[in-house]
Amino acid sequence: MHVHVVGNACIDTTFRLGRFPAAGETLNATAYADGLGGKGANQAVAAARTGAAVTLWTALGKDPLGAWIRSQLDMELSDVQVSEFDLPSDRSTIVIDAGGENFIVSGVACSEAFDPIAQTALARRITPGEILVCQGNLRGAATNACLRAARKNGTRTILNASPIDEAALPDFGLADMLVVNQSEAKALTGQMDMAAAAGALAAKGAATVAITLGAEGCLVLGHGQAGALCLPAPHVKALDTSGAGDVFCGCLAGGLARGMPITSGLKFALAAAAISVTRPGTLLSCPSASEMAALVDQTELS
Ligand code: ATP
Repeated sequence: MHVHVVGNACIDTTFRLGRFPAAGETLNATAYADGLGGKGANQAVAAARTGAAVTLWTALGKDPLGAWIRSQLDMELSDVQVSEFDLPSDRSTIVIDAGGENFIVSGVACSEAFDPIAQTALARRITPGEILVCQGNLRGAATNACLRAARKNGTRTILNASPIDEAALPDFGLADMLVVNQSEAKALTGQMDMAAAAGALAAKGAATVAITLGAEGCLVLGHGQAGALCLPAPHVKALDTSGAGDVFCGCLAGGLARGMPITSGLKFALAAAAISVTRPGTLLSCPSASEMAALVDQTELS
């Protein structure tokens, strides 16, 4: 079963330094590096490493950065459908202090210009039984158009509604499965209790709601369950949790594409995300294809 991931791809430039600069201050970083990033790219790579067939639909600028991002994507994915724009490619600057706190500034011109249904063959390519994965980086209307086309085609949809733009939220009622983290669930519902938040999100129409709970695992509501079910995360020593949410979503899609029922797909995603938090980096920390193969075997046997 094929997974179509629609979303952003960008270059992440990470600076590490002892403390954040004050306004007007210049500080030298202790380390810095460029890497492939973007929730669309991250989730597509994670899904592909599960062994599922994956297509990434993304937008890049016609600039050297776009060419570099494309070359990185081609190393990981066998099918990358790129819409090119006369705009600067998307990029993020991530600044991390000695305590692990970070702030991120992003340029998102290509994501904002991207309308996959109007500009690509996505609507003609998705077929019944396949899986479409969207995130919150594109304009809400563009995401809704993708979800609507998928629903019309009988394609299953996973919406990871992150990041949240309160002014232009996608229509959760168009998603078969909605995935958010705890702070997003609180922001979207005003509920501090996650079971209540899942209920409030389900009332917005998604058939299944999954809320990721960091080290606590995830909570799932829907798909025929009477109440919310809490699935624990494996106990690990976390080193760097950045990108764990993308590993979770990509692996969930990959697991479902490989025929796992929803609960098994969630357990598989929890196991893969737990590995990722024990390592530094975002995409760098994603389990390899051989690690994923071992996790698939364990999940299918459990
Ligand atoms: P991020 O923004 O860091 O990528 P997130 O805030 O979107 O992640 P979280 O709920 O923090 O989402 O984490 C996603 C998933 O990653 C969790 O559901 C869990 O499976 C895994 N995870 C995160 N932190 C830990 C941890 N300390 N131990 C084990 N698993 C973890």
